[in-house]
Amino acid sequence: MVETADLVVVGGGIVGCSVVHQLARLLPNTTRIVLVDRGPIAGATSGSSMGHLMVTPDDAAAYALTIASVRLWRDLQQRRGGFHYQATGALYLADTDADVAMLPVLRDQFVARGDSAELLDARQLRDLEPGLAPDLQAATFYPGDAVVLPMLACGVMLREAQAACPGLVVRPDCAVLGFDRDGDRLAAVRTAQGTIATRTVVNATGVWAPDLAELLGQPRLPIFPRAGNLAITGHHGTPVRTQLLEVSYLRFAHGAAAVDPTRTDDRGGHAVNVQPQSNGSCLIGSTRQFRGMDRTLNRELLHRSLLRAQRYAPGLAAAPIVRTWVGLRPYAIDKQPLIGPWPPVPGLWIAAGHEGLGITLGPITGRLLAQQIAGVPCDVDPTPYLPARFCA
Ligand SMILES: Cc1cc2nc3c(=O)[nH]c(=O)nc-3n(C[C@H](O)[C@H](O)[C@H](O)COP(=O)(O)OP(=O)(O)OC[C@H]3O[C@@H](n4cnc5c(N)ncnc54)[C@H](O)[C@@H]3O)c2cc1C
Repeated sequence: MVETADLVVVGGGIVGCSVVHQLARLLPNTTRIVLVDRGPIAGATSGSSMGHLMVTPDDAAAYALTIASVRLWRDLQQRRGGFHYQATGALYLADTDADVAMLPVLRDQFVARGDSAELLDARQLRDLEPGLAPDLQAATFYPGDAVVLPMLACGVMLREAQAACPGLVVRPDCAVLGFDRDGDRLAAVRTAQGTIATRTVVNATGVWAPDLAELLGQPRLPIFPRAGNLAITGHHGTPVRTQLLEVSYLRFAHGAAAVDPTRTDDRGGHAVNVQPQSNGSCLIGSTRQFRGMDRTLNRELLHRSLLRAQRYAPGLAAAPIVRTWVGLRPYAIDKQPLIGPWPPVPGLWIAAGHEGLGITLGPITGRLLAQQIAGVPCDVDPTPYLPARFCA
């Protein structure tokens, strides 16, 4: 007998788990939702990332989206907890005249959005973080950012979803191999564990979203892998308590990419992001490089990024690195995530392309998609994120 579902979500990373979480809370608890992933839950990009929940103030729409999502994270922490949420804030640092000049600009951007941030002088900086390099003269502190452990957060979301929606089935190690169509409409998902008859599918497969689109006979979505090398120190006590970022990180990570993402000769770059963990280790990033699906470590680029982190927090030089790895960020060509229906295939929805902000934006992505599927008003205007912008 063929299994049936009201809805199949493909991809069990932070985005797929958030979609399921929000759907389970919005739709009647009789809805049968199946989440499938070809590997373990959170086993791909979401499990290879830093867990920085980052509010970006430079643009009104980006601020509205990130702050809405960070509030949903705080709600989940208050309701459930269990995913190592730490309200570290973010300390933006600078060591060139041009970047020092950016510090008050950043503070003013937060204030212009009705939020608050503080410009610290050298003494205040030393009081907050005695372990920083003594020559640093100023910083901007934003108290609203936080750190989470994404793998644990996926589990918390799925457990809460299961309580709200007993019909939810979570199926790891279950690759989607193809689809059946009934004219234009979707009829079934063919998986490694059998066929699931359904009219509604969510493509939440991150850097693999273009492959899934192809399986559906659609053009490849313009999402490209952008590699990031990370290192983590042993549990020897972190030299800092706050999350550190170079102020240039915002330009580097969230500005327009300087290279064509389809090229494979991108030499890559880095900007400091140092993240103290709840267990006393320190996660150090972050690099960015377009080189297809290659996940081998770029030792030279990682080494440069570690030296740069030590320039701000010299104590890191004495902290042994115990593990290094590479993750692939799903970079959408116009730097906006895709959240909404795919009009050429009725019943097909997309939630993908979050580049370096997918952990931050998971909850609001799930909510916007669930609200569109349920046909209720959205918390944030979804127009800039509708995938239809890429329909020919
Ligand atoms: C080094 C690094 C640091 C980062 N740091 C941060 C940070 O600090 N803050 C932040 O907000 N974001 C950060 N990010 C970005 C964030 O990790 C991603 O945007 C996010 O994890 C993407 O989630 P996803 O669910 O879309 O993709 P994924 O986590 O990759 O999930 C997609 C899932 O789809 C599954 N799948 C694919 N094809 C199929 C198929 N055919 N059948 C079944 N399943 C399939 C895969 O197995 C995978 O589990 C970072 C990323 C990297 C690489």
